[in-house]
Amino acid sequence: MEKKEFKAESKRLLDLMINSIYTNKEIFLRELISNASDAIDKIYYKALTDDSIIFNKNDYFIKITADKDARTLKISDTGIGMTKDELENNLGIIANSGSFAFKNENEIKDGYDIIGQFGVGFYSAFMVANKVTVISKALGNDQAYKWESEGADGYTIEVAKKENVGTDIILSIKEDTEDEEYDDYLDTYTLKSIIKRYSDFIRYPIKMDVKESKLKEGTEAEYEDVVVEKTVNSMVPIWRKNKNELKDEDYENFYTEKHFGFDKPLKHIHLSVDGAVRYNAILYIPSEMPFDFYTKEYEKGLELYSSGVLIMEKCADLLPDYFGFVKGVVDSEDLSLNISREMLQHDRQLKLIAKKIRDKVKDELALLLKNEREKYEKFFDIFGKQLKYGIYQEFGSNRDVLQDLILFHSSKDMKRVTLDEYVERMKDEQKYIYYASGESLDRIDKLPQVDFIKDKGHEILYFNDEIDEFTIKVLHSYKDKEFKSVSSADLDVDNENNDDKEVNIEENTNLLNSMKDLLSGKVKEVKISKRLKNHPVYLSSEGEVSIEMEKILSQMPNGESVKANKVLELNSNHKVFDKLKDAYNNSPEKLDLYTNLLYNQALLIEGLPIEDPVEFTNNIWELL
Ligand code: ADP
Ligand code: MG
Repeated sequence: MEKKEFKAESKRLLDLMINSIYTNKEIFLRELISNASDAIDKIYYKALTDDSIIFNKNDYFIKITADKDARTLKISDTGIGMTKDELENNLGIIANSGSFAFKNENEIKDGYDIIGQFGVGFYSAFMVANKVTVISKALGNDQAYKWESEGADGYTIEVAKKENVGTDIILSIKEDTEDEEYDDYLDTYTLKSIIKRYSDFIRYPIKMDVKESKLKEGTEAEYEDVVVEKTVNSMVPIWRKNKNELKDEDYENFYTEKHFGFDKPLKHIHLSVDGAVRYNAILYIPSEMPFDFYTKEYEKGLELYSSGVLIMEKCADLLPDYFGFVKGVVDSEDLSLNISREMLQHDRQLKLIAKKIRDKVKDELALLLKNEREKYEKFFDIFGKQLKYGIYQEFGSNRDVLQDLILFHSSKDMKRVTLDEYVERMKDEQKYIYYASGESLDRIDKLPQVDFIKDKGHEILYFNDEIDEFTIKVLHSYKDKEFKSVSSADLDVDNENNDDKEVNIEENTNLLNSMKDLLSGKVKEVKISKRLKNHPVYLSSEGEVSIEMEKILSQMPNGESVKANKVLELNSNHKVFDKLKDAYNNSPEKLDLYTNLLYNQALLIEGLPIEDPVEFTNNIWELL
């Protein structure tokens, strides 16, 4: 028997194939099963136009048999088989895809069930086998042939015996090495789990012989091991089923089966899209936070299938970071994959799918917010931070997607409100959307400046999440209403009961200027406050960075240099103010002492550290 060499370029390619195209050895099984499925599909397509072929579903299946003693793994199919020429051309020339040619010859456009296209998958068998034997009988032929190869140095073809049409692929599995346990590929349990992972939705049965313990006939408690043939794959993926046929329970079971989480999902979304890119998807919004969600270890992404075959376990490009909590699967027949089918070649289709998924998740969340408020608030408690962060990211380019999905607590009953609800309730004369920041809702509610705005009858958003104020800075306004911190220096609220204030300011310009000089580098301005009722002093801020933001930034690496423009506000109706005036006129040292004390007290009220605690306490003693 003559040994034929692979074509020169094929030799090199085979080497590349075995050593570097695939990252994962176990996918050889996915490739061989996909080929078997393609071979059955081909009979199915032929039967559509050829009346002499009857396609009876029960006759078509794939069988996997492992023989530990012989160290062989056999993948058999009842598909279309290969003639001698086909064995030569499809297996003897690497990168020749008979399946791709078949699709073209038969003008199958919707033939998404046919998986093959590159003509390399078959050779992945050499990653785990030192010899591959193919015995095949083609449809319409009486003679079967055997193709055999031990890798790069060539292959042989000879006549063989085989009763039925179809193909047997027999792998002689390599011996274990230090790095690789090839024995695994002879183990029923491992094989079953590889089939489940990659080939669960191949639409023909994948059968295996499995050992089961059964009650011995004629006995009551004696068991014996019997071998039974079982179908390992689920065949029809849930996402290809009709929505009407599926119950909530089915979606929940699939969620558990896929290990998306231990919780019961809050919501599922089933998409069947027949547009520019065709795909099916099932998406879930979890009801509980994955334990590692807010850690670096958490990997977002959806499972990506191409025609029912798993391509990627976590395709990150399908989800924006802010929807990173979404779990699920996407299956498309329209993806162009790279040669190892582990990656995508073009991301145009993927981008289209990702955009649609983003819009759909947004719509579903909006519906949940509208119709099931309690459920939504529960969701928001867990994942809301992520949505706010999404607005902050990318300079607010996602604001349209997210701004109506975020909630804040408000001074009105301390309940959560949407921005829309807030704006709806605004009074005609109210210019701004007011907010106040602090560590906790209780503390915010007790701030003097909050009281002042509340007294005016305005609602205030309470920001107790670190991200809140940053988010709002990026939004800047909502429905043409600007956001305004109740702590900002230029708070534009009329103060009806203080007509004499203007005069006061004029009169005290010199005092205020001296105090500003004493505090130079610390505050930007010293002024008479329009908002203080009982407190003598208050520290507000001007411009982009608020005092709350300064606090948060100071905890971040390199954040210490970012400072708020502080304004020391004085209550001119307070007795302390008279003391200041007195000191200004009679004793410069006292003015210095008082100014520093007041400034440090204002820092304390705001929760900022005192710059020099020793000096501060000395000042107090001196005063006493
Ligand atoms: P691809 O599947 O991308 O075409 P493969 O290297 O996996 O490439 O397979 C090469 C070709 O060999 C296939 O296109 C097909 O024509 C043929 N082939 C492989 N396995 C089988 C099989 N089990 N039955 C029939 N033909 C097969
Ligand atoms: Mg293939």
